[in-house]
Amino acid sequence: MAKHEKISEAVVRRLPIYLRYLSYLQQVEVTTVSSQQMGRNLDVNPAQIRKDLAAFGDFGKKGIGYDVNYLVEKIRQILKLTDEIRVALVGAGNLGHAISNYNAYLKDNMRIAAIFDSNPKKVGNELAGLSIQPLDELAETIAAKQIKLAIITVPAPAAQSVCDLLTQAGIKGILNFAPTTIRAPKDVRIHYADVTSNLQSLAYYLT
Ligand code: ATP
Repeated sequence: MAKHEKISEAVVRRLPIYLRYLSYLQQVEVTTVSSQQMGRNLDVNPAQIRKDLAAFGDFGKKGIGYDVNYLVEKIRQILKLTDEIRVALVGAGNLGHAISNYNAYLKDNMRIAAIFDSNPKKVGNELAGLSIQPLDELAETIAAKQIKLAIITVPAPAAQSVCDLLTQAGIKGILNFAPTTIRAPKDVRIHYADVTSNLQSLAYYLT
């Protein structure tokens, strides 16, 4: 998609939210939706939704709204969810187990395709249908399975070295659950899902 470069981070973050709602509409067999209806349900300004979607072409019809199936297809294309996306997970502890067994992303064409852990006692154990692999198989497996994204669920002190291993193996996006900042080359995107610091920020708003 030629316009890919211009999509702002904020839009990229909203598109999955639109997609989730639209997929729900598909499930309940609703075929068209207005930006007002989407806005009400998602708590997003309808003008914002129209603006976000207009950036990718003229999807909506005045007075009728958006064709749900068409929009789902388009957003999936924009987010590059059309082909299966394979994800590696490093750190098969409690969080790693929970995330591996949480298969809600399967329907979005995402799949955990390899799991690694440094603990020899865990290597070889089965988790979510996969055999936990040692770190020395990481690079080869990531290349062979064409894995591009990774999830880090190791303790904080191990996160940077795991991040380095992953980026050297060609990983281009990391979702980091370890409660620490990690650094990667510029072409690698890092998103944080740090439960502790998120809760700490929420604590500030308690009255
Ligand atoms: P458990 O007690 O079963 O290990 P946990 O969730 O308490 O679970 P953590 O100490 O948070 O364990 O570690 C998460 C996982 O990360 C563990 O399975 C651990 O073996 C693994 N781990 C630690 N360091 C590394 C590393 N450098 N590379 C890969 N995996 C690692």
